[in-house]
Amino acid sequence: MILTRRFLLVAAAATAASAAIPIETKAAAGKIFRPRKLAWVVGTPGEYNFELIRAATPEEAIKLWMAEQCEGFAEPGEPCDCMACTHELVSYRMAAFDQIRNPSPGDWIRAGMGAHCDRCGYECDPEMGARAIADTAVCESCLTPEENAKDLEGAL
Ligand SMILES: [Zn+2]
Ligand SMILES: [Zn+2]
Repeated sequence: MILTRRFLLVAAAATAASAAIPIETKAAAGKIFRPRKLAWVVGTPGEYNFELIRAATPEEAIKLWMAEQCEGFAEPGEPCDCMACTHELVSYRMAAFDQIRNPSPGDWIRAGMGAHCDRCGYECDPEMGARAIADTAVCESCLTPEENAKDLEGAL
């Protein structure tokens, strides 16, 4: 999965909104309601290596992603030359996935991310005309004329 500019704009707005909540309010809410682990998307900007990670903080999400992707992760202080160690990693909240146990390619497209087209296997994203058809991701060139004609839910 890959980030899109549209997703980044929405994520930035959500981050700004949560930062505006006073700390005391957050702390009080934490006492009453302890949420399960939050959903994050972690990966390298510009690459189709984004994964859904459930963690308490963005830092923990990145650590968990590293543990999955980097074979040398168990050796502290010894970064290897793998993709995970040599490229910038980012972590974004994905509130849309908090309630979805195993997001489908269609869910990723609906959330504004790129995915692999379920019909041709090529990379696609909503900004290139990809759409979510039920649980599948479908790139613009694989959409049937009928699907193209409809104003489908999930088209961004
Ligand atoms: Zn590594
Ligand atoms: Zn396709």
